[in-house]
Amino acid sequence: MKNYKESILDFTKDELSSLIKPSFRAKQIYSWIYQKYVNNFNEMKNLPKQLIVELEERYRLNPLKVLAKEQSRDGSIKYLFGLIDDLSMEAVLLPMKKEVKDEEGNIIQSSKYTVCISSQVGCKMGCAFCLTAKEGFKRNLTPGEIVAQVLEIKKDNNIPTNKRVNIVFMGMGEPLDNLDNVVKAVKIFSDPDGLCISPRRQTISTSGLAYNIKKLGEMDLGVLLAISLHAVDDGTREKLMPINKAYNIASVLDAVRNFPIDARKRVMFEYLVIKDLNDDVKSAKKLVKLLHGIKAKVNLIYFNEYPNSPFKRPSENNMLNFQSYLREHGVTCTIRESKGLDISAACGQLYEKVN
Ligand code: SAH
Ligand code: SF4
Repeated sequence: MKNYKESILDFTKDELSSLIKPSFRAKQIYSWIYQKYVNNFNEMKNLPKQLIVELEERYRLNPLKVLAKEQSRDGSIKYLFGLIDDLSMEAVLLPMKKEVKDEEGNIIQSSKYTVCISSQVGCKMGCAFCLTAKEGFKRNLTPGEIVAQVLEIKKDNNIPTNKRVNIVFMGMGEPLDNLDNVVKAVKIFSDPDGLCISPRRQTISTSGLAYNIKKLGEMDLGVLLAISLHAVDDGTREKLMPINKAYNIASVLDAVRNFPIDARKRVMFEYLVIKDLNDDVKSAKKLVKLLHGIKAKVNLIYFNEYPNSPFKRPSENNMLNFQSYLREHGVTCTIRESKGLDISAACGQLYEKVN
């Protein structure tokens, strides 16, 4: 990455303040980029000409290029983004609620969006069920490349600058394997002069890098945590997720127990339900035991089959039985509707098509 111009999106406002003098310019630049959606430095009208020239020389504004875009029947839109070194990665806009107006045109329910973003190109973790794993690891995304996914998707869909979207780090890659850049992105996202997305609207999903869960917890950023658990015994989890050999279930849960969470929030446990592997009530029973004492909510995910996938989708019946067992034993549990199935934008199905 050394030969390329850095993106101005790579910097937190504090960093920018120390790079650009006088420092109040950083606030103005942030506002032009994130709140006025400018596409060129020369549109930053309240900056002196000399500074604009300097910025143009030193930085690029947008590190991403939309290479392709696909809309699913359920409204979600998948973006394939090209990076400056010709790699690519994907992000998805998931409309959660449509705007509803009354007869007089007053908004009675505002629209809600979640943006699912990538943190790496590829992934090192090698989970057996995941398409991203198949292509191996290419590189970490920079903070700017992470932030730009949300900015570009907001711009492209004319989502008003003051509309706060939710963010889930559930695209390609393992966010906690790129901890520094992800943490920086969380800070840039939440800047009040920028996109102004509170950390409480940002969910970091991890395959369970216990040590980095601990590190992230110590930073006490206020982000939400999601754990991709997927199995209730180490033997099965190891087969699905090699990372379990380094950090077993007990060590992950231990890190979760020490993770600071808002009194009104819960840690989300993602549980990929796979036919004949982890979809029985015995597993549900074990799961209830494991989560004892943790403020948890469980998200059951239907395994999404893909061409030559080694696993099968569970029956609806098993899914519902699994959910009922958890609920009857006091564990909040939802079944995730897989959005964007027809365009392969559903969980774990992001895959680069062009390269
Ligand atoms: N690397 C992080 C973030 C990616 S999140 C993590 O694993 O948590 C992507 C989510 O989709 C994870 O919960 C992952 O386990 C899940 N997933 C992967 N492949 C899938 C598939 N084929 N069907 C459904 N979910 C899948
Ligand atoms: Fe990486 Fe997550 Fe896929 Fe596992 S499930 S290979 S950690 S992206």
